[in-house]
Amino acid sequence: MTETAPLAAHGAAITLTACAKTFADGTRALEPVDLAIAAGETVVLLGPSGCGKTTTLRIIAGLEAPDAGGVVRFDAEDVTAKPIEKRNVGMVFQSYALFPNMTVVENVAYGLRVRGVAKAERLARAAEVLEMMRIDALANRGIDQLSGGQRQRVALARALAVRPRAILLDEPLTALDAALREHLRAEIDALLRRLAITAIYVTHDQAEALALGDRIVVMRQGAIAQIGTPREIYFQPANDFVASFVGITNRLDGMVRNGSFEGAAGRVPVTGPDRAHATLAFRPEGARLCGVAESSLHFKVEQVHFQGARQRVLLSAGDGARITVEASPDLPLVAGDTVGVALDPSRLALV
Ligand code: ATP
Repeated sequence: MTETAPLAAHGAAITLTACAKTFADGTRALEPVDLAIAAGETVVLLGPSGCGKTTTLRIIAGLEAPDAGGVVRFDAEDVTAKPIEKRNVGMVFQSYALFPNMTVVENVAYGLRVRGVAKAERLARAAEVLEMMRIDALANRGIDQLSGGQRQRVALARALAVRPRAILLDEPLTALDAALREHLRAEIDALLRRLAITAIYVTHDQAEALALGDRIVVMRQGAIAQIGTPREIYFQPANDFVASFVGITNRLDGMVRNGSFEGAAGRVPVTGPDRAHATLAFRPEGARLCGVAESSLHFKVEQVHFQGARQRVLLSAGDGARITVEASPDLPLVAGDTVGVALDPSRLALV
């Protein structure tokens, strides 16, 4: 078999329909999940340990079958019964899973050898991906002569060499140190965008998810808690779980009535039906200090921390709730002052 298509020219659209997973010991790892991933899209599965990210990825890969009733499609094709070797996916794990007795180029060409690609083409394609990953100079090295970052580049090159319909990455950067992780994350992001390959990336690290995903799927206890763009997840979490998972600490309790949130600090216009209990969640960047006449949300200044480029200001509401906002360093603020707070409507969430 000889393939002549350009590198990763086609990514499959991937659709999961009612994919649940109950393991043999009775563990319910996944509730019925519906998920549609567009061809060429990068989707990050994000959530705490044990929420079902890896199980979802393994169902997409064909390493795990969903419970009866679940369907996995690559484009229009039902692949539910197909094992991994028939799905043409590339996988990259936290542990590099490279063959230690083969050189870099042999590792990268391995998948092509298994697929019966002729030697000359095998080597040409391996050289192409090695160059793309900027590790062509390491082609003839042994795996034990490589750093962690280099190994992970080889693992990526090996996964891409077979021109997969999708690349599946399970915490690929977790084993690397922080600086290298950030560097390789930027490289992976650029690579996935350039190749326009369908990519599904599992992580528990929100910074990684925000930096990499076209969309993020936040998971909790085997179910999807929210699907959204990084901006939506970051600024407009759909519920309390997502808000706290992505670290939104400014929360005001109150109610929604006639298109306004009402709490101890005052009122803010919001969209949505009346609710007897609601929490308004926003980040320091979504709030601005203003005069009391400019806003109907009022707080007392508790503490001011001068930080050079800005001041971080701790405020309290009448019910004791505390929030943090940032202010320009030359704004004169004194503990005990009453101030107004204006919220950016695109950066606040009702949870
Ligand atoms: P982590 O980030 O820790 O890898 P995860 O979100 O990827 O977590 P999964 O690996 O998908 O989570 O696991 C989901 C649940 O299913 C967990 O409770 C896990 O213990 C359980 N589980 C996973 N594999 C099996 C198995 N083979 N048999 C029984 N239970 C399993």
